[in-house]
Amino acid sequence: MDLYEHQARQLFEDHGILVPRAEVTDSSKEAREIARRLGGRVVVKAQVKTGGRGKAGGVKLATDPAAAELTARQILGMDIKGHTVGKVMLAQPVDIESEFYVSYVLDRAAGRFLAIASAEGGMEIEEVAATRPEAVARIPIDPAEGVAAAKAAHIADTAGLPPQTVDVLVRLWEVLTREDAVLVEVNPLVRTTQGQILALDGKVTLDDNARFRQARWGEQKSAHDDPLEAAAATKGLNYVKLDGEVGIIGNGAGLVMSTLDVVAGCGARPANFLDIGGGASAQIMADGLSVILSDPAVKSVFVNVFGGITACDAVADGIVQALETVQLTKPLVVRLDGNNAVRGRAILDGRAHPLVQQATTMDGAARRAAELANAG
Ligand code: GDP
Ligand code: MN
Repeated sequence: MDLYEHQARQLFEDHGILVPRAEVTDSSKEAREIARRLGGRVVVKAQVKTGGRGKAGGVKLATDPAAAELTARQILGMDIKGHTVGKVMLAQPVDIESEFYVSYVLDRAAGRFLAIASAEGGMEIEEVAATRPEAVARIPIDPAEGVAAAKAAHIADTAGLPPQTVDVLVRLWEVLTREDAVLVEVNPLVRTTQGQILALDGKVTLDDNARFRQARWGEQKSAHDDPLEAAAATKGLNYVKLDGEVGIIGNGAGLVMSTLDVVAGCGARPANFLDIGGGASAQIMADGLSVILSDPAVKSVFVNVFGGITACDAVADGIVQALETVQLTKPLVVRLDGNNAVRGRAILDGRAHPLVQQATTMDGAARRAAELANAG
């Protein structure tokens, strides 16, 4: 789960990293009060879970409380890369001398963490890494050793950060480990004209597998920003929104991933995907279909099931029963293979729904679903 900047800021503060004084609100009237409390001049910052807010006009300086109210009104409701701004954070402005970039990220492939640091912070690190890769230090961290003072000094030294950042690097490692994060990023970490080191912007991604022991996030409604993803999660379904036209339902993560590739190979783009896992009961099928069909971008649906423990005839029964409760509005291409595939196909043939067609191979089904999506 990604945290908002103001939540990341709070974690940094909890672990002794200096951050600007700040408060959050969803009301421009209250923004004026907050600005007054913070001394008049404030930076008004859109709270959205995406980077590049500054460039998009979501980070603005206001010189007095009245201007803060006006600026908050402009920023609230703004769309930044598809994210609607629901809250703004008002922060005391800081006089910046230099901006750095620091992050720790889980490197799953290597079974380690990676410190990424640069003396050229502020802008998007991907840009710096692309144009001047030598300006970005990447230092592996053994999870059993972590980051104590000596390691932090090595990171700072390699990246060309001033020695005062060593303490922050150690504390940031504490944020990662104590808060069960898989990513902590500060961009920019700044040195002020008074020589203080402050975290001015933060991104934290928590490890969802550790939610059970991080009680403070318990009340947070959902990790999902997309309303359909949230609706699917409440039904226990694994649904992910993408930006194409073919809705995809499959059983098992591996099959679903290869289904995405095959559909893309047939010249269409997946609109979303839903993994119904091992069980494909009528209820799961009905829930899955209704989620997929509620996505207005979907032009055709591809159900790709390889029967294992759950046999294809049970899946076919599930689809037939789901058709009783869900109004099918888009063509459905079904490929059943594996355990009891023949019986499963016969059940669907027997139902003879005008919008349901079958294919015996994954490639054939993907081609058909792609054609239907491109036609409709
Ligand atoms: P992002 O665009 O989403 O990464 O948002 P940031 O919070 O990183 O803000 C973008 C940029 O605005 C920073 O890199 C700073 O250069 C600038 N900025 C943000 N807060 C302050 C501040 O308090 N004082 C000054 N001078 N600049 C700021
Ligand atoms: Mn930033």
